[in-house]
Amino acid sequence: MAHLYLVPTPIGNLEDITLRAIRILKECDFIIAEDTRETKKLLQHFSIDKPCVSYHLNNEHQVVKNLAERIAAANAVALVSDAGTPGISDPGFLLVRACIENQIEVMALPGPTAFVPAIVQSGLPCEKFVYEGFLPHKKGRETRFKAIAEEEKTTVLYESPHRLIKTLQQIVTFCGEGRKVSVSRELSKKFEETVRGSASEVLLHFTQHEPRGEFVVVIGGKE
Ligand code: SAM
Repeated sequence: MAHLYLVPTPIGNLEDITLRAIRILKECDFIIAEDTRETKKLLQHFSIDKPCVSYHLNNEHQVVKNLAERIAAANAVALVSDAGTPGISDPGFLLVRACIENQIEVMALPGPTAFVPAIVQSGLPCEKFVYEGFLPHKKGRETRFKAIAEEEKTTVLYESPHRLIKTLQQIVTFCGEGRKVSVSRELSKKFEETVRGSASEVLLHFTQHEPRGEFVVVIGGKE
């Protein structure tokens, strides 16, 4: 029976790849990759030579049917994104659904993803949480913030460096300046840092220290 393996890749530190991920990448028939050039660099590091085909946000609707047929005719195929877990704010869902509809066994390997270390080291309750991923840039953004303001569970967001300040300002506006926030940047990398405090304290920090790198924002629930 054909298998699609969802293989998480490091979000910064190459030591975070699992032994099983390396074995699956070595043994599979081919790799479906978000950016084949990025994946080739990773494969080279682990001395893996494997054909890669491209599957990304701009072509996923066009190629998903054909890819599912190719997987059905293969033994084992791996899906990777540029970093972290495929399907988590990355392409993956459409292919997983198509594979399930085509009786292909789908197996997700545990491994790197940015929101888990960010939430568990935030110091905010993590027994229940809401994953928002990237908020919409314009339309619908305020609606999401209104919902986050009323949310009693901890909320996790992904954010780019150039939108971080705006997001922190909106947390102050919608949730209040005292809402607890934790911002983790560059997880698993050399300049990893987590800033915790009230929304206004964290905003002040990043107005004084220019946001650089990749960010996860964790917002405490409404008390
Ligand atoms: N699939 C990935 C995962 O499992 O986390 C997420 C991919 S998404 C396109 C990229 C976003 O994830 C970044 O903009 C950032 O918000 C977050 N991210 C990825 N790597 C990170 C890191 N090392 N430190 C902090 N945030 C990171």
